[in-house]
Amino acid sequence: MDLSLTDEQRMWRSTAREFLDKEVVPFRAEWDRRESVDTAIIPRLGEMGFFGLTIPEEYGGLGGDYITYCIGMEELGRADSSVRGIVSVSMGLFGKIVLSHGTEEQKQQWLPGIAAGTTIGCFGLTEADSGSDPGSLATRAVKDGTDWVITGSKMFITNGSWADVCVVFARTGGPGPKGISAFLVPTEAKGFQRTEIHGKLGLRGQVTSELAFDDVRVPAGALLGQEGQGFSIAMHSLDKGRVSVGAGCTGIIAGCLDAMVDYAKERHQFGRPLASFQLIQEMISETSVECDAARLLTWRAADLVERDQPFTVEASKAKYYASEAAVRAANRAIQLFGGYGYVDEYPVQKYMRDARVMTLYEGTSQIQKLLIGRAETGVSAFL
Ligand code: FAD
Repeated sequence: MDLSLTDEQRMWRSTAREFLDKEVVPFRAEWDRRESVDTAIIPRLGEMGFFGLTIPEEYGGLGGDYITYCIGMEELGRADSSVRGIVSVSMGLFGKIVLSHGTEEQKQQWLPGIAAGTTIGCFGLTEADSGSDPGSLATRAVKDGTDWVITGSKMFITNGSWADVCVVFARTGGPGPKGISAFLVPTEAKGFQRTEIHGKLGLRGQVTSELAFDDVRVPAGALLGQEGQGFSIAMHSLDKGRVSVGAGCTGIIAGCLDAMVDYAKERHQFGRPLASFQLIQEMISETSVECDAARLLTWRAADLVERDQPFTVEASKAKYYASEAAVRAANRAIQLFGGYGYVDEYPVQKYMRDARVMTLYEGTSQIQKLLIGRAETGVSAFL
């Protein structure tokens, strides 16, 4: 399924796939087993332009459109969701937040490094006691002269231990979403501690960390946007992040489909290829339809972003559908592979483990349904 892509978009897809097939796919099982990608891949991805896809050329990026971005995220998801997550969080969540809400000085300070893949960003919203309800977060930032002093902690932060800078959401006012502000905090700041979380089901090649802030002092210029705007800044970034997750999940489904088709043609039982059995074709056809549907929902949201139109609900629908479909696709792929699907000689069990988190992070499926339900009925089920 291709729609009417431009020549540049088609070329980007084939360049991205060729690079990832050579420099990521052959190593992903090994990275998964040892719980870390070879971090040398990060600057290589920077050289190829993955980190600068939607960052304007004046800040060192490619200045690409949002469909091109989705093509990049889909190819990364197809190759290795751990790698997709590293890029998606550094450029998609951190880079875009600076681009949308930063001062010129903040953009000049952070974006060229992010676009090159030489600076890694992370996004610190979730806490041990506030996940789906980030408006209740407890990390505090208190003014001391013109500085801010941050205390508290964050949980499950992608790139946390590798990042050079983190956007930290902290309470500067009273309870609830309106009391939250956002800060750009260098991870080398005194009192900034990071602890890696091990034993994840999937996304084992990327680092996920717990962060602690023990009186971390930042200057006034670290405040992103206005005081009290932090919650809306976070929600706005997550809307865009959900388009990226939708694209990454489309890549997982596409990867499962390719693996299923190849295996069904080569594996014989009862003297015939698996592909000749109707029940096998059912699994392949369901996956094929869901792959197209996930991509179309994602590209619709991306097209709205590109045209500067409201896209919150469309991003929720894309993220919800594509993530649930990715789990279904990976589950079917394991079924089709039989016992061979259960071991990591083939990519399908990694697709299953990586897909599983997609219905949880950047807003769980339940939260997406509440957002979609609120848009349909005009009634909020959140409170
Ligand atoms: P909870 O909010 O406790 O939810 C538990 C269950 O209750 C879920 O099924 C949820 O859907 C359901 N639930 C909650 N509220 C409602 C409701 N009102 N109605 C119905 N059901 C409800 N966070 C970051 O800030 N930055 C990151 O980079 C980041 N990376 C992550 C990477 C990984 C690998 C993981 C696992 C998580 C990451 N997260 C990150 C955190 C992630 O966004 C949260 O885990 C997610 O938002 C869910 O929060 P929770 O885990 O606290 O679950």
